Amino acid sequence: MLKKYIIAIDLGGTNLKIALLDLNFRIKARQSFPTGRLKTKFKLIAKIKSSVTEILSAEKISRSEVLGIGIGVPGPVDYGSGKVHFFPNIPGWKDVALKSILERMIRLPVLIDNDANLMCLAEARLGAAKKSKNAVCLTLGTGVGAGLLINGDLYRGSGFAAGEIGHMPLNEEGPRCNCGGRACLERYIGNKEILKSAKKYFKRNITLEELSSLAKKGNKKAKELWYNVGIKLGIVLAGVVNLINPDRMVIGGGVADAGKILFSAVIQTIKERSMPVQARSVKVLKARLGSSAGLIGAAILLKEGLNK
Ligand SMILES: [Zn+2]
Repeated sequence: MLKKYIIAIDLGGTNLKIALLDLNFRIKARQSFPTGRLKTKFKLIAKIKSSVTEILSAEKISRSEVLGIGIGVPGPVDYGSGKVHFFPNIPGWKDVALKSILERMIRLPVLIDNDANLMCLAEARLGAAKKSKNAVCLTLGTGVGAGLLINGDLYRGSGFAAGEIGHMPLNEEGPRCNCGGRACLERYIGNKEILKSAKKYFKRNITLEELSSLAKKGNKKAKELWYNVGIKLGIVLAGVVNLINPDRMVIGGGVADAGKILFSAVIQTIKERSMPVQARSVKVLKARLGSSAGLIGAAILLKEGLNK
């Protein structure tokens, strides 16, 4: 039967999203479940299976019309074998052969990659980095990750672990990091660190949304805080710009909503600190696809991956 659909799964630390897309990557149906309730990996895998069955039967689509399943996961995965190494924010996932388990259970081809790579793939094909040849796409959240597009394709590295921009050291000395390193970018501009500095500035707990809206209204403290985040990010990105010479730098994730103050600090720092040819080549843009980027990227991964 003619293959007309793709199943996309975005397994996040907060939500498990499952969707049916057509071959033009339009979302036809979707379901979402809080990840925290699916306590074990067995429950989570069973939920994926039942949700896929439910969506197909509700849409009156047979499995033979589906090309396969693309999955994005929040942690390092061996793209070749589809084995998950671990998830920093979901316990119980050590060396799980997710691709072969799901292929056996659902009897469809499965391809898996990490969420930062899939966000990059989605932005590169349909979003802010469309028609880009060389791009760096960042997601700023609890973690700070990136996907690298080189010569129009994702660059994954030797162990499929490239793009860990949050773990580029910013200083010689500094706070220890979960990754085993020290003074990593994430230890300065990860969500938790931003909220910690905000608490010091405002002498109370404050959310990221409030911090962004205060800055947009002209609050001096909030503006200064975002400016400082932008400078730190810009310093690391200036090095990345020199190393990769990209044409696009795409910034997404909750922190990107801080808006102009953050972006102008990043752009200014890149201009000042990277080499002239590289600085001239690059445009810094906000990500366009928002919270659907993971699902769209997973569907693109599957379609392009099966064609290779
Ligand atoms: Zn680190």
